[in-house]
Amino acid sequence: MNRRAFLVRSSALAAASVLLRSKMFAQTPPPAPAPAPAAAQSSASAATEFRPLRRNVGLFTGRGGTIGWLASREALVVVDTQFPDTAALCLAGLPERGPRRVDVVFNTHHHADHTSGNPVFKPASQTIVAHRNVPKLQLRAAEQKDTTWQQVFADTLFDDVWRRDCGDEIVTARHYGPAHTGGDAIIAFERANVIHLGDLVFNRMYPVIDRPGGANIRNWVKILEQGAREFPADAIYVYGHGNARFGVSGARADLLVMRDYLAALLAHVEKEIAAGKPRAEIRQLANLPGFPDFFPAPGQSSRLPANLEAAYDELLAKKPA
Ligand SMILES: [Zn+2]
Repeated sequence: MNRRAFLVRSSALAAASVLLRSKMFAQTPPPAPAPAPAAAQSSASAATEFRPLRRNVGLFTGRGGTIGWLASREALVVVDTQFPDTAALCLAGLPERGPRRVDVVFNTHHHADHTSGNPVFKPASQTIVAHRNVPKLQLRAAEQKDTTWQQVFADTLFDDVWRRDCGDEIVTARHYGPAHTGGDAIIAFERANVIHLGDLVFNRMYPVIDRPGGANIRNWVKILEQGAREFPADAIYVYGHGNARFGVSGARADLLVMRDYLAALLAHVEKEIAAGKPRAEIRQLANLPGFPDFFPAPGQSSRLPANLEAAYDELLAKKPA
C-alpha cells in the first residue's frame, strides 16, 4: 500500500477510533464513587486509539502499557500486549493487517499490563520475543496472584540484543541491565527513528519500581542517560505510561526528566538515611520537591511511598552489614 493509501486508511481508522470511543463512552455506566484500580476496570471503560507516529510506526492506547506497532505491506510488529480485551481491539484494528499474521510481538518486560494480551496475539503471531528473564519473572508474579493458568510466555528469548529486518524497517530489541524490572527491553524502529522504552519512562508520574522483580534504580538512571546521549536527537519515544497532560510519547527531554527524578529520589533517601531516619519515617514524604508534574491529583493514591522504600532497600542492600 502506498503512502497516500496508508494515510487515507489511517484517517479512516482514526475516525473509526473516535466512533469506537464515543460508543464506548455511551455504554459506560455512571462512574463509581471510588476510583477503581486500572486493572479492575471493565473493558467498557477502555477508550482506544491508534496514533501513527512516523514511517508506518505508531502507538495504540487502551488499558495498561502503551502498545507500539509497525504496520507496513511487508511486516507487522507489535510491542507489548496490554490486557485481553484491548489486545483484541488492537489486533482487529492494526493498520494494513488483513488476513496476515503478525511477524513479531515483543514484551518489553513481564508486568501484567504488558503481557496479559499475549494469549490474544499468540495464535495470530509468528513469535513473541522478550529478554531472557521475562518468562521466569512473569511466572513468579503469576504464581503469587494465582493467575498462572492465564499466562502465555515469550517463545524467543535474548540476552543482550535481538535484531531483524522487518520489511524495509530494522527492528532492534536491547537489554541494558536491570532498571524498572530485571528484564527490560528497549525496542527501536531504526529507520522510523521511533523508540519504545517500555516502562523506563513513566512520563511525569511516580513510577513503579519493581524491586522484587529485579529493579535497579542506579542502573535505570544510567540507562536513561545513555539513551538520551546515544539515540538520535530527533527520535520519537513511546512510554509505557504518562500522565494526562504529558502523554505517552515525546522527545529526549522526557528521558532526562525521568532520570532527574530517579536520581533525586536516591539522593533524598540517602540523605535521610545519613540523618538516621528509619524506613517507616522516610516513606511518609507526601511529594518529592522539585517534581510538581509528577504529583498525583488530589485524592489519587501515590506511589511515592513505595518509591522511597525501593530506594531505601536498594541503598542499604549495597552497604556492608
Ligand atoms: Zn511495568
